[in-house]
Amino acid sequence: MTKSFDVAVIGAGPGGYVAAIRCAQLGLNTVCIDEWKNDQGVASLGGTCLNVGCIPSKALLESSENYARAAHKFIDHGIKLEGLSMDVPVMITRKNKIVKAFTGGIAMLFKKNKVTSLHGRGTLFKHEEENSIWKIQVKNGDEIEEIQAEYVIIATGSTPRQLPFISVDNDRILDNSGALAITEVPKRLGVIGAGVIGLEMGSVWRRLGSEVTILEAQSNFLMAADEQIAKEAQKIFTRESGLVIQTGVEIKSIQVEKEQVVVDYADAEAESQKLEVDKLIVAVGRIPNTAGLGTDEMGLSKNERGYIEVDEYCRTNLPKVYAVGDVVRGPMLAHKASEEGVAVAEMIASEKQGHANESVKVNLNIIPWVIYTSPEIAWVGKTEQELKAAGIAYRAGQFPFMANGRARALGETSGFVKVLADADTDRILGVHMIGPYVSEMIAEAVVAMEFAASSEDLARIIHAHPSLSEVLHEAALAVDKRALHI
Ligand SMILES: Cc1cc2nc3c(=O)[nH]c(=O)nc-3n(C[C@H](O)[C@H](O)[C@H](O)COP(=O)(O)OP(=O)(O)OC[C@H]3O[C@@H](n4cnc5c(N)ncnc54)[C@H](O)[C@@H]3O)c2cc1C
Repeated sequence: MTKSFDVAVIGAGPGGYVAAIRCAQLGLNTVCIDEWKNDQGVASLGGTCLNVGCIPSKALLESSENYARAAHKFIDHGIKLEGLSMDVPVMITRKNKIVKAFTGGIAMLFKKNKVTSLHGRGTLFKHEEENSIWKIQVKNGDEIEEIQAEYVIIATGSTPRQLPFISVDNDRILDNSGALAITEVPKRLGVIGAGVIGLEMGSVWRRLGSEVTILEAQSNFLMAADEQIAKEAQKIFTRESGLVIQTGVEIKSIQVEKEQVVVDYADAEAESQKLEVDKLIVAVGRIPNTAGLGTDEMGLSKNERGYIEVDEYCRTNLPKVYAVGDVVRGPMLAHKASEEGVAVAEMIASEKQGHANESVKVNLNIIPWVIYTSPEIAWVGKTEQELKAAGIAYRAGQFPFMANGRARALGETSGFVKVLADADTDRILGVHMIGPYVSEMIAEAVVAMEFAASSEDLARIIHAHPSLSEVLHEAALAVDKRALHI
């Protein structure tokens, strides 16, 4: 007999697995279908984020940062080390263990919450309008199972964008999965794309000793970030971290030779250049993944870039079909995917009870962004260039980590925090940070903005001393030109 569910979630990344758990918490009979297999061919829940994204990249960033500290910074504390070396396979094994613990953890969470987990590719193939039922095929190798559900949540994520003239072999030409599995420090590493993934992966291997060259097509570095932060980051990454970053380049060809990869490109002045490296990471963005989902057959609307079209509540054009995460508009970030998953689950649960709960939509204007380089970069809300373009009058307050006691004690004094507030109302419009642990500090700015705080609100809140959070406090004071420690 066909198994029947209230909700079928397709995809078990941070969008899908969180949606499935929240649906189950709300009493909905839920199935989550996912096709991911790890490199041993074993089903592995958690999608890109847990398997080859957020979690493994942060594990390697932490290991390489510890190595870099030991090599270059311990000496400032009087700690002398002799014969320091890096065992890359141990670092990779540690990363793999963390991934295994987390992906296995989702299987346990599914069990605990009574979410049915099915491994295989989910394809929508029929909608029975009269009884409001979606039929879904789940294909795992030669085994095919048919299930049915009243509601469908599509959370099929994204896949790496490929360059047209070269294919990834994950030996010399690597995508993000390959970049996370290198077992020996390459002497020369090339990275195409200076986005978040390119910068994070380039940083890992630079810290371990690679000569890293990053080639970026955009003429400006980190276009999504506030311009002042991007300029500061480029200065620190090139002068202090030793990354070579070239913007405004045009890649002409990539050849894999026996011992190396050769990239021919035109630089920003249109001069022909050649880059020879041992390995090349291609990190030119990600594209929404709807392969094999049956979207065209079912008439699911997608935009010209392949994203499933949704309204502010993540509703698609098909009845009782929602879509969340990387496969829809908005930033490709795990926390955005998860919050959409929760919102959709709550919407479905209230719809099942006969009333629409339209208070649960995700606020796409207040989503924190983090880049886990050293120093870290984080922001929320509008950049200065966006405010200028929109003709919004604002006041800016800024404070450097150099003048903060905790940053000095840590020996991490690069960077600053900037608060942007409306010139008339003082409401905070954006907060931009570059410096130590700003991935953690940004949360305070997110809370402030969600509660429509003014810069004065932040300025009047007591911050512990000595702490990095005092830099945000002083930046808020600086909006009113009354910073105390500079
Ligand atoms: C190297 C790297 C580092 C990153 N670091 C961060 C970070 O630090 N912070 C952050 O917020 N984001 C980060 N991201 C982005 C983050 O991973 C994504 O935004 C997030 O995973 C999107 O979640 P999702 O649920 O939409 O999709 P995904 O995580 O891509 O999951 C989709 C799942 O659906 C499955 N699937 C697809 N089609 C089908 C089908 N038809 N049937 C069954 N299953 C299917 C896929 O196999 C996959 O398991 C990083 C990404 C990469 C690549």
